[in-house]
Amino acid sequence: MLRAGAVAVMNRFGGNLPTSVEELLTIPGIGRYTAGAIASIAFDARAPIVDGNVTRVVARLFGDDDDPWGRAESLVHACESPRALNQALMELGALICTPRNPSCLVCPLRTQCVAVATGRVDELPRPKEKKATRELNIALYLIRDRRGRVLMRRESGPLMNDLYHLPHGDTSLLTGKPLNATPRQLLGTFRHTVTTRKIEFTVFTADARGIRNRGEYEWIDVSEMSEVPHPSYVRKALRLAQVS
Ligand code: SF4
Repeated sequence: MLRAGAVAVMNRFGGNLPTSVEELLTIPGIGRYTAGAIASIAFDARAPIVDGNVTRVVARLFGDDDDPWGRAESLVHACESPRALNQALMELGALICTPRNPSCLVCPLRTQCVAVATGRVDELPRPKEKKATRELNIALYLIRDRRGRVLMRRESGPLMNDLYHLPHGDTSLLTGKPLNATPRQLLGTFRHTVTTRKIEFTVFTADARGIRNRGEYEWIDVSEMSEVPHPSYVRKALRLAQVS
């Protein structure tokens, strides 16, 4: 991601980091938090930053934990220096407005703090509801050509984007079309967790015939595997298949 981001900055922005959140968000590897941090701290732009500390401070300050980004945005638009405000909110959350036993007596926000005024400091922010975990079974295909190269596919979905994956037989985790492959030999299974998904991967050798959409796929030389960005479940699968 760092390399892809650097290439984007060179190619699209003439080697200079853009200053707006909208443009920063178009650079690979930069999400909402990082874009806000760069725009406000480096360029003093009116962009909010919301991490766990800021979420807690604004929830208590406003007595409401529904919309931390909206609350942080209202503060950053009202302040004199977004750079100073964002760093102050993060620091206040880290040192004063701590999750347990916050130091309200020495807090500079004490007189405006709704949580203090309404006796709800310990209730805010409310704990997040845990997302239910999902159990998935996914087939992975180890397909090699005559030179021993491994067929891989670059993902463009919301999870593990821009990384190289082994062809798979299922869309429950990855968004690419399932590969219409004929499994040959079962190599084994392993378990792996991705966010709230608990997955049992089953790894097969398979035939290359029947590949759809060839443009998505690339043959990767095993000796170059360490140069190719791939997620940790792919490493486990390749180890299982004794390819790495
Ligand atoms: S007064 Fe207490 S609860 Fe309110 S922001 Fe300050 S430390 Fe947090």
